[in-house]
Amino acid sequence: MSEIPVSLTFDVDAEAGWLGEGQEYARRLTILSEGRYGVVRGLPRILDLLSRHHIPATFFLPGYTAELHPHLIDLLLTNGHEIAHHGYLHVRSDQVSAEVQTEEIDKGLEALQRLGAPRPTGYRSTSWELTPETFDLLIDRGFDYDSSCMGDDRPYLETHGGRSILELPVHWSLDDWPRFGWNIDGGGNVADPAELFRCFAAEFDSAQAESRHTSFTMHPEVIGRPYRLAQLEKFIEYMVSVGDVRFARLDEVAAQAGPELRGRELQAIR
Ligand SMILES: [Zn+2]
Repeated sequence: MSEIPVSLTFDVDAEAGWLGEGQEYARRLTILSEGRYGVVRGLPRILDLLSRHHIPATFFLPGYTAELHPHLIDLLLTNGHEIAHHGYLHVRSDQVSAEVQTEEIDKGLEALQRLGAPRPTGYRSTSWELTPETFDLLIDRGFDYDSSCMGDDRPYLETHGGRSILELPVHWSLDDWPRFGWNIDGGGNVADPAELFRCFAAEFDSAQAESRHTSFTMHPEVIGRPYRLAQLEKFIEYMVSVGDVRFARLDEVAAQAGPELRGRELQAIR
């Protein structure tokens, strides 16, 4: 078996995860506090875990989260992690006008850079909903990759309207939210934490058998509960024990996969 790159990614939705759903959440202190827990308790535990295992990771940061918790940028950068774009107020692009989508991209870029982050090269849309308008914006603003779509389980070129962007794909089954996300309005799941280990390990095994990159998506307010984080640590230990794994930030994966896929695309045209 050959060594495969594995990416651990974290979406730091925090309070923006709710405020982006509507201003009615501004007065819902309990639900906002659960988002804040991700920053206050979840993130320090995650950073400690990653540092103990020497793992560089990718953090998708809404601009609003960065403004509300400005220490995050420095904290993530000094720990060697990638900061990528996750909108401004975590607004779903399919539910707003083209103007608001432009604002989400540009205000997000502005906030991250004003607070000291390098210009992000990667983007992940809120709830993984990508529209043609936001797709075009990503290309126009020069992003290297998107990580919102599910058209393959390997890096690929997501194409729309004759244009394409490098896609580092995701999937609901490789995300902590569908298994553990629960709220008083929509219900959801409070699943057995060990299921996360079983599913993630099975995906890792299949990615290794096929020699492909794979990535996992988590949220600090969800995975940052200690009994769940223990499952993530068990998963990391499992991958290390199997061997032939290299933990890679998505920007590193993009730097390799982008030129390879573009080269193949050119060859196909010739
Ligand atoms: Zn998110």
